[in-house]
Amino acid sequence: MAAGGSSTAALPTLADGTPCSLSAVKTATRYKGEAAVIFSKAEVDKLATPFRWALVGKFSHGRPSLEGIRKFFSTLNLKDQVSVGLLDYRHVLLKCSTEQDFNRIWTRGMWQLGKYPMRVFRWTRDFHVMKESALAPVWASLPALPIHYFDKHSLFSILAPVRKPLFLDSATAAGTRPSVARVCVEVDLLKPICSRVWVAVEGELGFWQNIVLEDTPKYCSACWRLGHLVEECKKDGAGVMHKGKQTLVQQQEAADAAEVAREIPAGAAKPGGIGGQSP
Ligand SMILES: [Zn+2]
Repeated sequence: MAAGGSSTAALPTLADGTPCSLSAVKTATRYKGEAAVIFSKAEVDKLATPFRWALVGKFSHGRPSLEGIRKFFSTLNLKDQVSVGLLDYRHVLLKCSTEQDFNRIWTRGMWQLGKYPMRVFRWTRDFHVMKESALAPVWASLPALPIHYFDKHSLFSILAPVRKPLFLDSATAAGTRPSVARVCVEVDLLKPICSRVWVAVEGELGFWQNIVLEDTPKYCSACWRLGHLVEECKKDGAGVMHKGKQTLVQQQEAADAAEVAREIPAGAAKPGGIGGQSP
């Protein structure tokens, strides 16, 4: 996968220098009578480790040049450099090297790059350009939580059953708003959302702590897009939802594809083609 921003061929490594590559070439096997290779979960997790702070930027209505996108991120005053590479004509891979940069770029949801809006999704190893990720950062409020639980690890423990806690809002971290604790959490919109958690002390009475999620986005499991529920889906088989806009979308796609073709050096892989093979 092209990480962009660099032409180095060095293998990815963890922060402590441990390589993320496999220790040996996998032995080929068979699946339904044809050649196959089966990776273990541990192996793919290892391979995916360098991308744990990776995001996918999606431009649905045209996009700036790759150079323009890179320039945009260099003006954001981020902690570290973000590597930007093209996944296809409307998706870019944004590889952050710090959790802070990752959270800042992801939780904003939508960035405006000149006249082009870019939505941001968390990259996961099941990411596919035809499916928007169902993972979304959402603010969770814990109303009337007893104030001694306003501790990062305590809050993260209370919220763990909901999904992965990301970070506290500044008033919660500083303890200046005892009425409500607020934490940004990663929610999987395809899973039922837990609305309360039992909090107890060993040998003492406990209490149900309500978890209120603010502005949870809608997600459609029929066309794999954010913005509407499956009951509201207007999918027409091809996955294009907005009738009347369809021609415009197709024109835009053709224009975008032409732009990508101009950016790819002669002899390199074309979108949808076989990598590295040229006639
Ligand atoms: Zn839909």
